[in-house]
Amino acid sequence: MTSVCFVVPSWHYWTNPLKLQPMWEMYYATVCQAHFDRDDARVVIEDLRGHAADSLSEAVSDVGEHDVYAYWIMKTGDSVEIANIVSLIRDRHPAGKHVAGGTHVDMLPEECANVFDAIIVGPGENSFKQIVEDTRSGRLEKVYEQPYREVPFTDTPFPDRSLLPVDRVVNPLLFEQYGGVPATSLYFSRGCVYKCAFCVYNVPSYLQVRSREMMRDEIQYLKDGYGVKGLNFRDEVAIHPNAKISTTMFEVLGEADIVWRGQTTTVATYEQLKQARDSGCLELSIGVETVDDQVMQIIDKAWQTESQIRSFMENAKKLGIRIKMCLIFGLPGEPPDIVERSIRFIEETEPDYISLSGFCPVPGSPIFNNPEQYGIKFIDRDWAKHAHLLYRFSDEEEVGLPFEYEAETQWGKAFSREQIKENIRQTQRWLETREMVY
Ligand code: SF4
Repeated sequence: MTSVCFVVPSWHYWTNPLKLQPMWEMYYATVCQAHFDRDDARVVIEDLRGHAADSLSEAVSDVGEHDVYAYWIMKTGDSVEIANIVSLIRDRHPAGKHVAGGTHVDMLPEECANVFDAIIVGPGENSFKQIVEDTRSGRLEKVYEQPYREVPFTDTPFPDRSLLPVDRVVNPLLFEQYGGVPATSLYFSRGCVYKCAFCVYNVPSYLQVRSREMMRDEIQYLKDGYGVKGLNFRDEVAIHPNAKISTTMFEVLGEADIVWRGQTTTVATYEQLKQARDSGCLELSIGVETVDDQVMQIIDKAWQTESQIRSFMENAKKLGIRIKMCLIFGLPGEPPDIVERSIRFIEETEPDYISLSGFCPVPGSPIFNNPEQYGIKFIDRDWAKHAHLLYRFSDEEEVGLPFEYEAETQWGKAFSREQIKENIRQTQRWLETREMVY
C-alpha cells in the first residue's frame, strides 16, 4: 500500500489561519483517494495551520512516515516554510518522496525542481494520481505537466471534508459579521480572464466552471454532513461575466437556501447583483486596487473604470449587498497624495469594509518579470517576505514590500519603501478607528 500525505503549512501570516480551509490539498487528496482502492493507497492530510513559525520543527516531528508528501503552494510567501518542512521530514523519514504543485511552482519550476523530488506544472487532478502510480513502480519523474485545457474542473470530485476534523472545516468566523452561521469555503470556478500586471492567480487564463450537478451536490453534502449555512466562495471571480453561467450558480444557491459571500469584479451588472442578492449573497469583495487612473492603466486594469466601480457600488448598496473594497498601496506610478485621495474615495463611496495590502511583486507576475519597466530597482528574493499583509493586524507586522523603486521613474518621483509603509500604517489605523477592517 502506498501512503500519501498532503501537508498544509502554518499560514502564519493570518491572525487566524483556521478561518480559511486548505481547499486544493483537500481537492487533490480526494482525487487520489477516489482513484485508488483503499488497499492500494492511503491518503491523509497533515494540517499544520495555526502552528507558530518558530515551533515548526516540533509540529513536523508529529508527521508520520509516508511514501509521498504532497504540497500545493499557492502563495510564494509559503514556499520557504514548505522547503523547511521538506528538509525536516527528510531528516526523519528519508525514504519519502516530496512533490509539489500550485501557482508558485507554475511560476518558478526550475527553482522548485531543486527542492522537491517531483513538481507538478498545471492542475493536479491527473498529475498527483500519476505520481502515486510512479512512486509505486519506482519510476518517479521530475516534472509532471498538463495544460489546464485538458482538465476542465467541471466534474473534479468535490473535496472530502472528512479528511480534516470538523472544527478545521467549519467555523462561525467566516460570517462573524452576519450572526456567525456555521460556514466553510468552496470553489465553483477556477481561473480568470484578466491579466492584471501584479497578479499570478489568473491560472488558467479563462474560467473553468463546475457543473450544475457538482455545485448542487457539494452544497447538499455540506448542509447534510456539516450543518453548513454559509458559503465563502474562494473563486477569483465569483460572478461569472457570462449571464447564462452566473444564472446557473444563482439558481443552485437560491434552491439551497443558504447565505454566501465571495470576491468578484466590478463588471457584474445590476441584474446579476440582484440575482446574487436573491440567491443569498450578503457580501462581495472587489479588487478596486487603486483610486488613481494612471496606476490603473500601469497595472493593466484599465478595463475597470472609476465610473464602473461607483456604479457597481451604488447597485450593490441599493440591493443591500455589503461591499469589501480591496486596495493596494505601493503600486507603480502612485501620486504623492495617494493616501488623501484613497480616503476621499472611501468617504464618497462608503464601502462597508476595506482590505488594504502592500504591493508585492509576486514571482511570475508581469511586474516581477519586467521590474525596470515599472521603475523597480530591486526585488528581494527572500520569498518569506512575499506576503502582502502589512500592518493589517498590528503596527508590529513586517511582512511584505520586498522591493524598492528607483527614486525617479518615468511617472515622476516614486515612494521609498519607508514612505509606502508609512502610507499603509496611517491608512490602516484610519480604517481601524472606523471599524472597516476585519
Ligand atoms: S487581480 Fe483578479 S481580476 Fe486581475 S488578473 Fe488577478 S484574479 Fe484576475
